[in-house]
Amino acid sequence: MRPRPPILSARSSPKADKNQGRVHTRFPPEPNGYLHIGHAKSICLNFGLAAECGGKCNLRFDDTNPSKEDVEYVESIKNDVRWLGFDWQDREFYASDYFEQLYEFAIRFIKAGQAYVCDLTGEQMREYRGTLTEPGKNSPFRDRSVAENLALFERMRAGEFSDGSRTLRAKIDMASPNINMRDPVMYRVLRAQHHRTGDKWCIYPTYDFAHGQSDSIEGITHSICTLEFEDHRPLYDWYLDQLGIHHPQQIEFARLKLTHTALSKRKLLQLVQQKLVSGWDDPRMPTLAGMRRRGYSPEAIRVFCERIGVAKRNSIVEIAMLEHCLREDLNRRAGRVMAVLRPLKVVLENYPEGQVEELEAVNNPEDASMGTRKVPFSRVLYIERDDFREEPPKGFFRLSPGKEVRLRYAYIIKCIEAVKDPDSGVVTELRCTYDSETRSGSSPGQRKVKATIHWVSTAHALGAEARLYDHLFIKEDPDDVPEGTDWLANLNPNSLEVIKDARVEPFLKNARKGELYQFERLGYFCVDSVDSAGAVIFNRAVTLRDTWAKFEKSAKAEKKR
Ligand code: ATP
Ligand code: MG
Repeated sequence: MRPRPPILSARSSPKADKNQGRVHTRFPPEPNGYLHIGHAKSICLNFGLAAECGGKCNLRFDDTNPSKEDVEYVESIKNDVRWLGFDWQDREFYASDYFEQLYEFAIRFIKAGQAYVCDLTGEQMREYRGTLTEPGKNSPFRDRSVAENLALFERMRAGEFSDGSRTLRAKIDMASPNINMRDPVMYRVLRAQHHRTGDKWCIYPTYDFAHGQSDSIEGITHSICTLEFEDHRPLYDWYLDQLGIHHPQQIEFARLKLTHTALSKRKLLQLVQQKLVSGWDDPRMPTLAGMRRRGYSPEAIRVFCERIGVAKRNSIVEIAMLEHCLREDLNRRAGRVMAVLRPLKVVLENYPEGQVEELEAVNNPEDASMGTRKVPFSRVLYIERDDFREEPPKGFFRLSPGKEVRLRYAYIIKCIEAVKDPDSGVVTELRCTYDSETRSGSSPGQRKVKATIHWVSTAHALGAEARLYDHLFIKEDPDDVPEGTDWLANLNPNSLEVIKDARVEPFLKNARKGELYQFERLGYFCVDSVDSAGAVIFNRAVTLRDTWAKFEKSAKAEKKR
């Protein structure tokens, strides 16, 4: 037998070996929202463990709360799991497929005197439940006879009672130190159209009652869930032990938390509903749909999930680490091109009018097989407005009056004059000269200048829209807000900057949706796959500066000392 990954033996349990080494996991999303990077961690873990151990992993929709669920979510979830690179083959299951079986299980509990129909309202139930320090009180309906409970439960199913008026509860122990064991609700009355069962049911099992039994029905061996469910484990075990059916082992791990990011579906839904983002696939969203549109590849996300690892202790991962994984991936894959986001016109006074040179540019210095391309050069160019300073501060080596700079793949140019708008004083054009002896790669031993900048030829460049993204939340922890305000107060008002009149080199004329490029010196950009505004739209996936790599380097240096 292959050695077990540590998480599968995280808890010594007599049950651990009863499956003869078989490993069968499941990924159990509730179809009430789109998947996010936290779910990716769970997907990689569940599918990854199964693959590693020669086992299987099911996709199971945990659809027991019809009021919040929708087929749109089911479809997006399937699409995202597939996109991440995992295959559940023919094992696509739904908790709702087991509603009849779960109902039968509930009847068994009633017949065994272990469940009763309770008429307490939600509020009364909370009063009876007690607190962490005080035991609860028995419900006045706890001692109903088996016959009465069976009759009432049947009438609950038949739709004779209003929503919320009655529940079926497990009869366990109202004095248990674990609140989950204080007669938990198994079924509630709820009239809602279910996306699969329609209006067949008006009672629905709770998560706790449905989950373990669904695991058991599917023959799951390891039911991996997040740490919040540790306190639910005794209940998970209790239901299965009482029923005496196949008993999977529940194992908990820490959920992913990321700085500057909200990873609760409730919050993400609120952002979508209040139109604070453009939708579930807004490139600022931590959803897989948003990340894909932003330029993340499945590989980058899988590498990230592998690096963060799985632990039993809650911790917060720096978003810089996720961005680092994306950069690493794109550095390898993305072709380099030149684009100017904030154009400033440059006229080369001594360059012949009408002349065009086709300069050779390398597509990817990391990957020679990506070849080269031609970039047109002419008398009138655009450079980045930021690359010129009329009064350069100390250490500024780019263009300024009287100074020289190299144009990438082209010549050294010198700024002669900055032409300004007489009213506003804004620089509108630079008059420059070029040194014809300095064409890139033309002669070795050429003179050098301190900076190289990117450019495009005005007559040849294409107009483009660039969307620059920043973190959605200003604070590392979105919930860190002063009293009296909520997490939305931490939304970053500058998380999206739209640049309508960027210019890109003509090579990008045929750029296709979803394609990725490095705009030299600016960042990695992905052709938007949803919007089209005439001009091509580029989403900035990530900037070039890598704070995580720097952090790692200094941490290593620290260790050495
Ligand atoms: P929320 O509470 O925000 O609705 P959830 O955990 O209830 O999220 P589910 O659709 O039930 O959402 O999640 C499916 C699976 O993904 C569960 O097994 C859950 O433990 C796991 N999961 C959800 N969020 C994270 C996260 N941030 N990190 C790791 N796993 C997660
Ligand atoms: Mg859940």
